[in-house]
Amino acid sequence: MEQAEPRVVVRRSARRKRTVTAYRERDSIVVLIPQRMSKADESKFVSEMVRKVLDRENRERAPAGDADLSRRADELVDRYLAPAVGYRPRPSRVSWVRNQQQRWGSCTPSTGTIRLSHRLQPMPGWVVDYVLLHELAHLVHGAHSADFWALVDRYPEAAKARGFLEGYLAGQGTPAATEDDVDTADGEVAAEPEAPAALSEPRRPEPDHLTAEDGDAEEPRLF
Ligand SMILES: [Zn+2]
Repeated sequence: MEQAEPRVVVRRSARRKRTVTAYRERDSIVVLIPQRMSKADESKFVSEMVRKVLDRENRERAPAGDADLSRRADELVDRYLAPAVGYRPRPSRVSWVRNQQQRWGSCTPSTGTIRLSHRLQPMPGWVVDYVLLHELAHLVHGAHSADFWALVDRYPEAAKARGFLEGYLAGQGTPAATEDDVDTADGEVAAEPEAPAALSEPRRPEPDHLTAEDGDAEEPRLF
């Protein structure tokens, strides 16, 4: 996933024989290469290392704006969903919203709209990726079915991310409950949720509580 291209600084080092190293230095990515590396190898290794640094940063940081979020969605679709379903489910719109206090994320499959709560923004990128992928998977399966969870669990850190979000809510002293995150076009909840297979028995939705089951959790009303 590419954002605005960073400045790339290549430094040749006489002490360096074979290894190539890259790191972030403010708005630049510095790549250290051996003094004697050929120009052809330089361009190959430098672009590879820059991509690695950006990939790592993207994993560590939540996408800041809607454009970043859309790019992240495309990347997740290409990496995890498309290979499994044989096409590229594309949301019509992916956006951060500030009016979603009750859920981490929501999806309206009929319009292809996905919304993530701004409250996820300070969280690690891999947690945001999980919630985003969860909502993207609802474009394929509207309900929390076994097929749905199989798709979501293609994301290697799905269980870890669910644990992170569950722990976050537990840290706030709020109990877990299950709430659906799939909306019909008129904003009503479309289907009964099911607990993910890895977790305990399904719980009934409790509108005044929150879910920590599947990442798109509800939180209790603050007022
Ligand atoms: Zn869901």
